[in-house]
Amino acid sequence: MVKETKFYDILGVSVTATDVEIKKAYRKCALKFHPDKNPSEEAAEKFKEASSAYEILSDSEKREVYDQYGEDGLSGAGGAGGFPGGGFGFGDDIFSQFFGAGGAQRPKGPQRGRDIKHEISASLEELYKGRTAKLALNKQILCKECEGRGGKKGAVKKCTGCNGQGIKFVTRQMGPMIQRFQTECDTCHGTGDIVDPKDRCKSCNGKKIENERKILEVHVEPGMKDGQKIVFKGEADQAPDVIPGDVVFLVSERPHKHFKRDGDDLVYEAEIDLLTAIAGGEFALEHVSGDWLKVAIVPGEVIAPGMRKVIEGKGMPVPKYGGYGNLIVKFTIKFPENHFTTEENLKQLEQILPPRATPTIPKKATVDECVLADFDPAKYNRTRASRGGAHYDSDEEEQGGEGVQCASQ
Ligand SMILES: [Zn+2]
Ligand SMILES: [Zn+2]
Repeated sequence: MVKETKFYDILGVSVTATDVEIKKAYRKCALKFHPDKNPSEEAAEKFKEASSAYEILSDSEKREVYDQYGEDGLSGAGGAGGFPGGGFGFGDDIFSQFFGAGGAQRPKGPQRGRDIKHEISASLEELYKGRTAKLALNKQILCKECEGRGGKKGAVKKCTGCNGQGIKFVTRQMGPMIQRFQTECDTCHGTGDIVDPKDRCKSCNGKKIENERKILEVHVEPGMKDGQKIVFKGEADQAPDVIPGDVVFLVSERPHKHFKRDGDDLVYEAEIDLLTAIAGGEFALEHVSGDWLKVAIVPGEVIAPGMRKVIEGKGMPVPKYGGYGNLIVKFTIKFPENHFTTEENLKQLEQILPPRATPTIPKKATVDECVLADFDPAKYNRTRASRGGAHYDSDEEEQGGEGVQCASQ
């Protein structure tokens, strides 16, 4: 008993047609009348009609309203539409569901479950050599006893009251408006299934799912980088009618005491003494490989403070391509203590080192003669703080601050 049959007539189906029959009928119309296949104006009109009819009849809620109230019920008598979106999109959207826009079928099917994300922390040493970690994962899986059906094979039926959704939409006319409510399906009590209690799965009590503890072996490959993902496809929680998501491990590199990483390269700050910097020598460092590297500085090659040199092939392993990055060494020079500066030593140095530079000051300039005092960071910070502090790189303070005292002349 339906109020009107117009939409059914357009598609050429009976009012008791199933979803499949309606779909088939629309497909037939669409093939015949779609503007791509049939450019006549009459066909365009027919296609539009068929599409709007299909849009209503393929949607169980809309079909229910249409059956009960006719077309007026759908558009919301009095202009206050009960459905969001008001007018129905004609044609193209639905057409593309059938035939694909540009050949690509729109994916429509089971939902995809959530991914489970974990961080896996690794030191530079572990990232150099690679590491296997075993991690226990507590996850939800489909009940093994009933294979996620919730009961004996063939005993669980999809609830027809809600089409297996567990919820129902109830439409009610309130004055000129159609109101729509969502309620739990009273036939299946929200489960979406109908099953005789005696056929219900004893193992999961009809819930279809159970918990499982699974050990995952996570392989951190040599040379992996901070932020890189290790993916276990489909290992996340299982649920009925859901494609399980992935378990994703995110590599997190722990900071190292001596090395910094720059892609496949390593950066190391080496401190050498002044004599080694000028006259050559050697220094050693413990590499992330566990080996020690003994590095020679060739006599005659002067290393200046802040200078960088490279040791080729001593960086991190390069994944996929093989080989290794480089080790970049940045130098700081340790200068000798004051007791080195005896008169005799200084005299010798004057003879050995290149001559002193003398400052150039314009002839007419007024000149203040200054001496250096020791710099006391505590005192400096206190003064800085009492001045309000924040401007750490102000030129004025760098030059006029503590430590340099000027004798006025
Ligand atoms: Zn139900
Ligand atoms: Zn079960």
